[in-house]
Amino acid sequence: MAIRELKVCLLGDTGVGKSSIVCRFVQDHFDHNISPTIGASFLTKTVPCGNELHKFLIWDTAGQERFHSLAPMYYRGSAAAVIVYDITKLDSFQTLKKWVKELKEHGPEDIVVAIAGNKNDLGDIREVPMKEAKEFAESIAAIFVETSARNAVNVEELFQKISRQIPPLGPQDVD
Ligand code: GDP
Repeated sequence: MAIRELKVCLLGDTGVGKSSIVCRFVQDHFDHNISPTIGASFLTKTVPCGNELHKFLIWDTAGQERFHSLAPMYYRGSAAAVIVYDITKLDSFQTLKKWVKELKEHGPEDIVVAIAGNKNDLGDIREVPMKEAKEFAESIAAIFVETSARNAVNVEELFQKISRQIPPLGPQDVD
């Protein structure tokens, strides 16, 4: 079975749960005191998709999201981008648009975009209505899910949805 390496970059404000989503997906673990990512880092996980194996190389922003503009190098060669916001922080949803704009300017043209509204275990202090977020995602043809890294809700599904949007390799692509 062909293994394809797919670079995925994570975007979103500090504290929305980017590292926690990666930790849940790759290690099936949630750490209440997850330490901020320092320096460039990526984690990998391989999942089957049709006749292929998708090896996700997941890049975390290494805490550089506070600079509001990431080096174009960060996006280069990415098959997908996951933009994360926190459903309990309206601000984090409002800055989504900034991340989308940045991606359009610096990301590959055919990049698969996914929006994840994280911390959906905290529904009682929700500030972002799901309907609004879903409509925004639809308007930019992005995948949308609400996730909880804490309770392992929809994290696996998020990456499955991304996998399904990556066009399979045609015979011309195989050596
Ligand atoms: P990052 O800065 O975007 O990478 O965010 P982190 O992964 O470091 O998470 C920030 C804080 O939010 C940490 O205290 C996490 O424990 C917490 N957190 C992350 N995901 C969830 C979630 O799904 N539910 C809840 N309740 N807390 C979460």
